[in-house]
Amino acid sequence: MAWYIYLIIAIGVTLQYYFVFYSPRQDEDWRKLPLLAEYLIQHPECKTDDDENARCYHCESNKVLFQPLTTHADPRYKHICLNCKTILFRSKSII
Ligand SMILES: [Zn+2]
Repeated sequence: MAWYIYLIIAIGVTLQYYFVFYSPRQDEDWRKLPLLAEYLIQHPECKTDDDENARCYHCESNKVLFQPLTTHADPRYKHICLNCKTILFRSKSII
């Protein structure tokens, strides 16, 4: 194979990594979400016994799920209300 084929593959893999895994648009959206501490300042009534979690300000459900922003290995988490699907706050897993 000619050398430029490898170059095209390398560029393709890099772009895929950038857009699929790092995902700058999603990262920007994620950064706009409050951290749990900030969320609790805005919605003090949402505090629960669990220091790692909070209630939904929208529907008061305590069924808040967290999921990685992109893939399974992504340390950026968003916490979503299972009941009304509101995205509530963000966190980062410590690896
Ligand atoms: Zn809710």
